[in-house]
Amino acid sequence: MSIADNLKQYKSEVETDGVKLIAVSKTQTNEAILEAYNVGQRIFGENHVQELVDKQAQLPQDIEWHMIGHLQSNKVKYIAPFVSLIHGVDSLKLLQEINKQAAKNKRVIDCLLQIYIAEEETKFGLGYDEAIELLRSEEYEALKNIRIVGLMAIATNTKNEKQITIEFKELQVFFEGLKASFFSKDDTFKEISTGMSADYKLAIEEGSTMVRIGSGIFGKRIIKHFKADVSAN
Ligand SMILES: *Cc1c(COP(=O)(O)O)cnc(C)c1O
Repeated sequence: MSIADNLKQYKSEVETDGVKLIAVSKTQTNEAILEAYNVGQRIFGENHVQELVDKQAQLPQDIEWHMIGHLQSNKVKYIAPFVSLIHGVDSLKLLQEINKQAAKNKRVIDCLLQIYIAEEETKFGLGYDEAIELLRSEEYEALKNIRIVGLMAIATNTKNEKQITIEFKELQVFFEGLKASFFSKDDTFKEISTGMSADYKLAIEEGSTMVRIGSGIFGKRIIKHFKADVSAN
């Protein structure tokens, strides 16, 4: 199936549940992204700052760009002028830098706290306790140019659906707890960004409000090899 066909199918499937579809376009060409754009997709997710900045400059200006990958503090300044949502906030230091760059751009940047729910040790994210500690801190209180609108997480990469379901369920319970404790007056704290091509159905059953779909829409990612052009020598 074509990108347009895949996209239409995902859109109709997830949007009937009121879930937002983030088309994960990392490594994809502008042509591929435009194919999705031309059938109505407006939210795209990228995980590398340079790629995100280049694509934002080259593609239609009404695209909502989400940064879904690990973000280094020293790169926040490049995306602060335009980014719609930063999914992977996993430290107070990063949040402070986003706040600083958002203020420079006279805007408020929406963020999700990335929570560590998987069994694997390589995944980024805050533990449940660390997230609470962050939200309780005076440093967080002082930040006026960021808004935490929910949580993001990546489940263990396993075929064991029971385990994935348990991880998503725990996250949802934690989300409800945070909402009651820290955001009871904030209607904007409402997003749970979970679910990728392999596990989005389980994620939606367990309360996901945004799924991040890459390969299911665009096909398998091609790993690029950059070679220096030596033919001129
Ligand atoms: C690549 C990526 C996705 C999409 O993964 P697919 O399996 O291709 O759907 C989702 N979330 C994050 C954080 C990613 O890096």
